[in-house]
Amino acid sequence: MPTIVQKFGGTSVADAERIHRAARRAILAKSAGNDVVLVVSAMGHTTDHLVDLARQVARKPSKREMDMLLATGEQVSIALVAMAIQEAGHSAISLTGAQAGMLTDSSHTLARIKSIDTSRLRGYLAEGKIAIVAGFQGVDPSFNITTLGRGGSDTTAVALAAALKAETCEIYTDVDGIYTTDPRLVPQARKLDRISYDEMLEMASLGAGVMHGRSIELGMKYGVPIHVRSSFTDMPGTMIMNATPDMESISVRGATLKRDITRITLLGVPNRPGIVAGIFEEVARRGIFVDDIFQNAAAATEATLGFTVTHDDLDEVRAAAADLAKKFAITQQQVEPGLARVSVIGVGMRSHRGVAATMFQALARASVNVENITTSEIVISVLVRDSEAERALQVVHAAFGLGG
Ligand code: ADP
Ligand code: ASP
Ligand code: MG
Repeated sequence: MPTIVQKFGGTSVADAERIHRAARRAILAKSAGNDVVLVVSAMGHTTDHLVDLARQVARKPSKREMDMLLATGEQVSIALVAMAIQEAGHSAISLTGAQAGMLTDSSHTLARIKSIDTSRLRGYLAEGKIAIVAGFQGVDPSFNITTLGRGGSDTTAVALAAALKAETCEIYTDVDGIYTTDPRLVPQARKLDRISYDEMLEMASLGAGVMHGRSIELGMKYGVPIHVRSSFTDMPGTMIMNATPDMESISVRGATLKRDITRITLLGVPNRPGIVAGIFEEVARRGIFVDDIFQNAAAATEATLGFTVTHDDLDEVRAAAADLAKKFAITQQQVEPGLARVSVIGVGMRSHRGVAATMFQALARASVNVENITTSEIVISVLVRDSEAERALQVVHAAFGLGG
C-alpha cells in the first residue's frame, strides 16, 4: 500500500474545527487506499507562549528543560487529532517522537535526527490505523527529550516520509504554497508551481520561514517529493523537487529577507597564520553561529576581519567581541546590531549574466545603502540597515519581475 505523510502546522490545528478539518484530510487519504502518517505541530502560538513562560521563570533556562517544556505543545495536538479521527469512526493512534522511534543527538533545542526506528509505526499502519506523530521532537540515546529547532515539524515529516519510502510528503500550512517572497512582506509575491530543492534550501536558510531548512536537505538527499499547500483549500500548492533543465530559463526564482543580524568588525587584527583560526574557535566555543565572514588586509601586518551573526543575546555578542579583542591583541572592535540581509536566489543564475547589476541598480534607485555583499553560485545577498530592509526587498523583488 502506498504511504502518504501529511504535516499540519500550528495554524492548521489551531482550534477544534481545524483539527477536524485535518482529520478529514487524513481520512480521505486513507479511504483512497493509502497508509497515512500525520505529523502535527503545536496548536497556534503554543510554542511561542511556552518560550515566553520559560523566560518569565528563568533568565537563561537550561536547554534540556526547554526541550521538555516545548515538546508538550505537540503532545496536546497529537492526542486531539487522534480523538477527532476516532470520533469520525476511523482507527487512529498518537505517538510522541520517542514512541515513533525518532532518535536524535543530544544537542538540546537544535537536535539532529540520527536514525528512525519505524518498526512500531509500521506495525500500527499494518493494523490499518492512521498514525499521528508529534512533530519537532525526538529522544536522545539517554532518553532525554530533544527538539529539532523552531519550525522543526517539517523535518519530522520529511524524515518520516524518507524512512517509510512514502510516495509524497504533503505540508499543509497557512499559505497556498511557496511564493517568490514572503507574501506578508510583499503583497505582489506570486505563488510558484515548482521550486528546486537547491533553491528552497537557500531560501529557507536565508530567511523564508515557510520551511525548516533541514527538511529540504533531507528531501533532497532521499528524493522525497514535497508538496507545500494550503490546509484551507484543495488547490494544488508548490512542488519542491529536483531541478529540471527548463528551471534555468529564469535567473531569479525568489527573494528573501533575514532580520536581526549583527555585524562584528575587528580592526587591526594581527595578520599571521593561526589568528583567524583562534578567533573562530573562540566564537564557536561560545555557541555563537557565524553567517558570513569577510576580511581585508589593510596593511601587511594588520587586517580587518568582520563577521555577521544572528545571535539573540546581544550582551553575549558584545562580551565575546571584547574578549576576542583582548585575547588576540586586536586594536578595536565594533558591534553593529540592526542589520538585515536581502537575497535573491535562482538556479538560473548559473547561466544568466547581469543579475548582480540589476540588483544593485534597483537598490541604488531606491537610495538603499549596501553594507556588504556575498555571493554563491545561485545566491546574491546584500546587507542593509534594518530600517530599509522591507523597501529593499520590495524593489529587488520588482526588479526581477517576480510580482504577479
Ligand atoms: P506552519 O505553522 O504551517 O509551519 P509557518 O508559519 O512556519 O507555518 O510558515 C508559513 C508562513 O511562512 C507563511 O504564513 C508566510 O508568511 C511565511 N513565508 C515566508 N516566506 C515565504 C515564502 N517565500 N512563501 C510562502 N510563505 C512564506
Ligand atoms: N511547534 C514548533 C514551533 O513552533 C515546531 C513547528 O511548528 O514546526 O517551532
Ligand atoms: Mg513552520
